[in-house]
Amino acid sequence: MNLAIFDIDGTLTRTTHVDDLSLAAGFGKFLGVNLPRVDWFEFGTSTDQGLCIEACRRHLGRAPSDAEIAAARESFLQELRSRIEADRSLCEPVPGAREIFEHLRRAGWALGVASGAWEQSARTKLKFAGVEIGSMPATFSHALPDGRPALREEIVGGTISKLLNGSSRDGTRIVYIGDGVWDARAARALGIGFVGLRHDGVHEHLRAEGAGEILNDFRAPEAVIEALSRAVSPLRAGEPSPQPAM
Ligand SMILES: [Mg+2]
Repeated sequence: MNLAIFDIDGTLTRTTHVDDLSLAAGFGKFLGVNLPRVDWFEFGTSTDQGLCIEACRRHLGRAPSDAEIAAARESFLQELRSRIEADRSLCEPVPGAREIFEHLRRAGWALGVASGAWEQSARTKLKFAGVEIGSMPATFSHALPDGRPALREEIVGGTISKLLNGSSRDGTRIVYIGDGVWDARAARALGIGFVGLRHDGVHEHLRAEGAGEILNDFRAPEAVIEALSRAVSPLRAGEPSPQPAM
């Protein structure tokens, strides 16, 4: 069995910019502060839930309640929708993203989605970009039962579990496709293969995380399938040689 799991922002949809703007504007409005940007690196988290909690902590001086998180999320979603509705070019698909799923299915890959975005945000962006995930197993940013925001690797792990559906991981090739350094790190933490996707053509950060396979888009299905078939778990320089993913 072969499993390919996709990140959304920057991987299937060209939405990183509008996402960042909307998060800052939406959280800023809710908190009543001018939040010029939400720096994912500075905040040390790569999920909407994690960013929301961290932004609230900084400006409220305490952890937000569930109701406050829901209100901040709604403020963000309103910003996101109104910006995309005003300018549809802010939410374009990555070239080939609308077609790649069918090619991969025919080549024997089972598909899933794992995103650091909240579900409503992710589905809004996919819809406007015309990328249809249908009933594909998917996991989004969420709170764990103890209130902690799920880490990226826990989100990807959630989709792996849904795809395996009780079967063993043994003998299964599992590959995560993403644009962020946190995506490469999640693949490393899980010991699964990684394919980088950079529609801006900037590969250096993913290379530095040990990504061996990096694509600029999904326009050449054969090249995508080859990259998925070769992908190994990314290791940083100085670490032992990469081992093939399971
Ligand atoms: Mg991304």
